[in-house]
Amino acid sequence: MQTGRVRVPLAVTAKQEAILARLGRDVKQGATKLYEKRGRWYLALSVTLSAEEKAAKSARDKIAGIDMGLRYLAVVNAGGETLFFPGDQAASVRRRYHALRRRMGKAKAIKAIRQMKDKEARWMKDQDHKISRAIVDWCLARGVGIIRMEKLEGIRRRKTRKRDFGRSLHSWSFYRFQQFIAYKARLVGIRVEWVNPKDTSRTCPRCGHCASENRSGIRFRCRKCGFRGHADAVSAWNVSFAISGLAEAA
Ligand SMILES: [Zn+2]
Repeated sequence: MQTGRVRVPLAVTAKQEAILARLGRDVKQGATKLYEKRGRWYLALSVTLSAEEKAAKSARDKIAGIDMGLRYLAVVNAGGETLFFPGDQAASVRRRYHALRRRMGKAKAIKAIRQMKDKEARWMKDQDHKISRAIVDWCLARGVGIIRMEKLEGIRRRKTRKRDFGRSLHSWSFYRFQQFIAYKARLVGIRVEWVNPKDTSRTCPRCGHCASENRSGIRFRCRKCGFRGHADAVSAWNVSFAISGLAEAA
């Protein structure tokens, strides 16, 4: 039998962390209980907040994280609740336009190709507007006060190697999409923060273990604690936590 002190890390959400930081000041600590449930240990700590503050804060105290991708155009996570916007529709429309352009390219129908490109661009822009609107409305309805998005890299790079061209096109469209979300959010009083995208897709939101093996396609399974989830939802969640820190304003 061994006795003594054992230090163990505590996993908390961003909201809990904010409250813990104020313990002993305007937040009063109540009873604490340590208990075990299915092999995991939990610490239940009751706190007392002043009633006025709770009422004022309850409206806008959540932080939402948004993950952008090709499988899902956007995945939004606010306090563990997730909203998915499938990317298939956008991808299939783009493929159709692309195939049409190739056929027309053989017929040297340059003008028609340009018109079609314009039409596709308008369609994409319209989609970006509709989806960004839906995301901001969803966040507003859930009491989100801050929206966090990944700060994309390579946007300002001028020279693009051929190999990276496809990717840079995607990051360009994500960049515009993010800007749409940002200005719609600010209009309704939601703050926008940009986070460092490092490790957001491979870190466990429950225990913090970071490994590329945690992720396999759309599945996320933590090699350390066994946490399972949808890979894109996990990324969005990690974006909301800003696990690699905030980036400078964009
Ligand atoms: Zn884990």
